[in-house]
Amino acid sequence: MTVQDVVIIGGSFAGLSAAMPLVRAQRRVLMIDHNRPRNRFAKASHGIACLDGMSPSEIRSRALAQLQRYPSFELIDDTVSNIDGVAGAFNVATEARKTFASKRLIIAAGITDILPNIPGLEPHWGKSVLHCPYCHGYELRGRELGVLASSEMSFHQAALLPDWGATTLFTQGQFVPDQEIQECLTSRGVSIEVSSVVQVNGDGEGLSSVELEDGRTVRIDGLYITPHVSANLGFLKSFELEMVDSPFGRIVKVNELKESSKKGVFVAGDLSNPMQNGTFAMASGTMAGIAAHRSLVFED
Ligand SMILES: Cc1cc2nc3c(=O)[nH]c(=O)nc-3n(C[C@H](O)[C@H](O)[C@H](O)COP(=O)(O)OP(=O)(O)OC[C@H]3O[C@@H](n4cnc5c(N)ncnc54)[C@H](O)[C@@H]3O)c2cc1C
Repeated sequence: MTVQDVVIIGGSFAGLSAAMPLVRAQRRVLMIDHNRPRNRFAKASHGIACLDGMSPSEIRSRALAQLQRYPSFELIDDTVSNIDGVAGAFNVATEARKTFASKRLIIAAGITDILPNIPGLEPHWGKSVLHCPYCHGYELRGRELGVLASSEMSFHQAALLPDWGATTLFTQGQFVPDQEIQECLTSRGVSIEVSSVVQVNGDGEGLSSVELEDGRTVRIDGLYITPHVSANLGFLKSFELEMVDSPFGRIVKVNELKESSKKGVFVAGDLSNPMQNGTFAMASGTMAGIAAHRSLVFED
């Protein structure tokens, strides 16, 4: 069996960026990806230098086309189902019942957003129900915006949002700001609504309003949420990686070189980044790729 220098699990912002320094060092890289990136619900990616406004799928195909010019790069469309072994001798199994041997692993499998269970919310995810104003705020500038509180982080988001549009914080009856935070929000012009949002209305693209528990309807054009996240690590059955809390959920603990608690396993992108967007994912993927290469050179 051919031994890969590095198998990369996940072929989106982080995985694609991790591959680049490795193939340019002529290392044998196998990328396994089932092409379900976190932002696949959005038509365009914003805020990424040189790529602003490009669709997630076009960014992926451009990056892949560039990687495929390097003879030591290979992409497989499959789902990783198990990994085991130790640095220098990892095994990767897939749902298509293939197995691969690799000296190093880079996991860039991303996270899954767990959306609040409110009727009408999910169909608008990535269109007018959004997670980040830096990514999707400018397009809704000057409109009626809402923040659906899901943690204390939502206060922070509500304080930022008036730079894009008139903002209402929906506390959902659970996340009530203390006096200091309330003063900050008031000074930013944020309205606070304590009756819970029970229904989100729109045409599947744009929002028109939200309905409140007390029977009122409030016009809203864009609703921001901070979803809890689940790490895409279902294939980790043979060993565990140390995890760490982030404001959104558990992510993988890594050092500054993106190496996890398991030697030879590097983890990049949303799966190990507390600040999450495409640019951060690309930067951490690059770091993981370079660090994996250096470990092949200096540790084998
Ligand atoms: C709705 C929405 C819109 C967003 N818009 C923007 C934006 O405009 N600008 C911006 O900078 N950021 C945006 N983001 C954030 C951005 O999507 C993430 O930060 C970025 O996708 C993280 O990249 P990643 O490579 O870590 O993970 P992902 O992009 O999620 O990619 C993970 C990859 O791993 C693959 N994978 C997972 N498990 C397996 C497995 N077992 N086997 C094989 N493959 C697997 C998946 O199929 C996927 O291709 C948005 C996020 C959301 C939710």
